[in-house]
Amino acid sequence: MDLNLANKVFIVTGGAKGIGAAISKTISDEKGIVVIAGRNKADNQAMVDEIVKSGGTASYVTAELGTAEACREVVDFTVEKYGQIDGLVNNAGINDGVGLENGSPEKFFQSLEKNLSHYYNLAHYALPHLKKTKGNIVNIGSKVAVTGQGRTSGYAASKGAVNALTREWAVELLPYAIRVNTVLPAEVWTPLYENWIKTLPNPEEKLAQIVAKIPLEKRMTTSEEIADMTVFLLSSRSSHTTGQIIFVDGGYSHLDRSI
Ligand code: NAP
Repeated sequence: MDLNLANKVFIVTGGAKGIGAAISKTISDEKGIVVIAGRNKADNQAMVDEIVKSGGTASYVTAELGTAEACREVVDFTVEKYGQIDGLVNNAGINDGVGLENGSPEKFFQSLEKNLSHYYNLAHYALPHLKKTKGNIVNIGSKVAVTGQGRTSGYAASKGAVNALTREWAVELLPYAIRVNTVLPAEVWTPLYENWIKTLPNPEEKLAQIVAKIPLEKRMTTSEEIADMTVFLLSSRSSHTTGQIIFVDGGYSHLDRSI
């Protein structure tokens, strides 16, 4: 199946690591052009080098995306360099453990800035360009939005809002034929996941318990499996799919985990 991504331009936030890195590589494998937006310059450079080495085209903007200004710069850079935006992948996020008991109003608000505001800000600034290309948006959500996790109010609120905004934007952008969808992972082994599991008592035991409850094949989802769905949604091969929240989680969120 040709996804028709050749010469199309995609912004991938957090596109140098974990799930975002797999999305960047998959877009490039399909001949698309990638602009990575992330806060670690060395990671960004390494990912761009890898893509360029394998014959692809990629650039990066190093920015902490928690300010509106940074998001505007990402969009401006992309349009100045490549002249167009065909898709936005809102992926950057961190399960930062700002809970109800252990958090504070300030920390809660900061968590929203790190996890949610940039989803809106980038979509807002990219919109005039997406209108021109009939481009589309894919958000990366989290199962925490629908299952809860405990001790992570900022992240849960952000991911709940991502689900709501997916429907809201899909409706608002119907007149421009801009599609908006969310891919929702549950358990994917990435640097973020590794850091999170290490915060728990007996991390190895906990990991084994989690994996044993993933219905399909008792294994974690791979970043590439998230990327494949994301890139399909970015492509014109999913041209009549919008407003969808698609769980790529081996059945973790919906199937009976006692089986
Ligand atoms: P990851 O391994 O930590 O990679 C995320 C990348 O995004 C990192 O390069 C990170 O930089 C960057 N980033 C995060 N917040 C940023 C910000 N505010 N500004 C600039 N750069 C930022 O994470 P991942 O596991 O691939 O997660 C990607 C997405 O999937 C997130 O939205 C996450 O919520 C979602 N998700 C993941 C899982 C899972 O099991 N892994 C499950 C459900 C949902 P640093 O390295 O500097 O932090």
